[in-house]
Amino acid sequence: MKKLSIKTKIALYFTAFMVLLSLFIFGVISLISSQSQSSNEKNTLQRVVLENAKEVEYDDGELEYDDDFHAYTSGVYTLVYDENQTKLKGNAPYDELSELTFSEGQIREVSVSGTAYLVYDFHHSDTDGPSLLLRGIIEKNSGAIRIDTILTASLIAFPIMILVAAVIGYFISGRLLGPIRKISDTAESIGRTGNLKERIPLGQSQDELYRLSDTFNNMFERLDKNFMSERQFTSDASHELRTPVTVILSQCEYAFEHAKSKDELYEALGVIQGQGYRMKRLIEALLRFTRLDQQSDQIHLELRDISSLTEAICHESPDIYDKGIQLHTEIEKGIEKTVDQELYTLMLGNLISNAYKYGKQGGNITVRLYRIDHADKGGKVGLSVTDDGIGIALMDLPNICNRFYRADKSRNEGGSRSFGLGLSMVKEIATLHGGVLNIKSREGFGSEFTVEL
Ligand code: ADP
Repeated sequence: MKKLSIKTKIALYFTAFMVLLSLFIFGVISLISSQSQSSNEKNTLQRVVLENAKEVEYDDGELEYDDDFHAYTSGVYTLVYDENQTKLKGNAPYDELSELTFSEGQIREVSVSGTAYLVYDFHHSDTDGPSLLLRGIIEKNSGAIRIDTILTASLIAFPIMILVAAVIGYFISGRLLGPIRKISDTAESIGRTGNLKERIPLGQSQDELYRLSDTFNNMFERLDKNFMSERQFTSDASHELRTPVTVILSQCEYAFEHAKSKDELYEALGVIQGQGYRMKRLIEALLRFTRLDQQSDQIHLELRDISSLTEAICHESPDIYDKGIQLHTEIEKGIEKTVDQELYTLMLGNLISNAYKYGKQGGNITVRLYRIDHADKGGKVGLSVTDDGIGIALMDLPNICNRFYRADKSRNEGGSRSFGLGLSMVKEIATLHGGVLNIKSREGFGSEFTVEL
């Protein structure tokens, strides 16, 4: 049973159910027909005796039988006796039956030679003379032939019904479970080929299996997207690393083959060192990303005074690009929020660093922290970093948070420190805290990055 397919099991259950149902119906039919037959026999017996009684009477002291008197009709024997119980007319199938002592008014069951009979005695006083006694006798189950016919018919019909039920059950379950086979075929094919682009074909009827297939398809789609983005990430990361390595190798070749003076060698070494630092920064950024991915299900959330934390981060973010930019803060006091301190610092640090990187010479940066809905605890909080730098072109805005995406213009501004990883990390950290990142920017005027937590 364990190894049977669901299709076969359903067909078997269906057939077993049909067998039980057939037995039940057969039992009920037999019971009802035997009961109605026995009450039919009693009715016939009484009816024939009473009808015959009307056809017997005295005429001038002479006992006369009308033409309608039937000593044997409808399976009923009618016997007539005088008051002394001497038989005057009629014959019973056995003498024992005609000699039975009278018991008036009730129907008795008497067995003779293994056959059961019903016997009914009637005291007939309305005879224009002395009373008469009438006895009716009918063989019990004389209509049993009808039950036998039903039984035989049932014994032929029920196995055919059960066979048909089994075939229909097998066919219907096959049709109903077709989508499950499609699901398992697709899953098996994906497992074999690794092609997450495959989808389970959806049928017409929007039933549970349709929803299950749809759920699987959505899952395949998400997995496919994740794998694609992982693949893209690895490819982009390799690409980013290949550029400095190429520069380093070509500088080495140049130095070996063409550098004649110490100054030229130093110049090549300077370029190599610069590319080395760039690789180091990129590797650090990649490591941070990997850690962030690994941490995503175990971030250390704690209730923190983020007003003080924000103040401290701003204080410790120097203008490393030496652009003479002023950093201002507008921080509401005493805001508490459940955050992972390390990730919060990384997030705000990235936004401030970008504001310096893409800020204008002698420009301004403002960091704001404020309550959005003024609820005491658990209310929403806004954290924004605004600059008056180069801004972001409208066409770049939709992709600006994608990993390794850099607006063309900022490649020069960011120089060797720009990898296009910062904003996607900020977005991911905001999401990990149940928040969102909103960006407003105008090219040439500046940008505002707001994280709602
Ligand atoms: P990176 O700064 O290393 O390039 P980010 O992910 O932090 O990477 O930023 C992605 C891109 O978004 C940048 O290359 C730049 O084009 C744009 N950008 C980010 N912050 C700003 C900003 N404050 N002003 C203008 N452009 C910005």
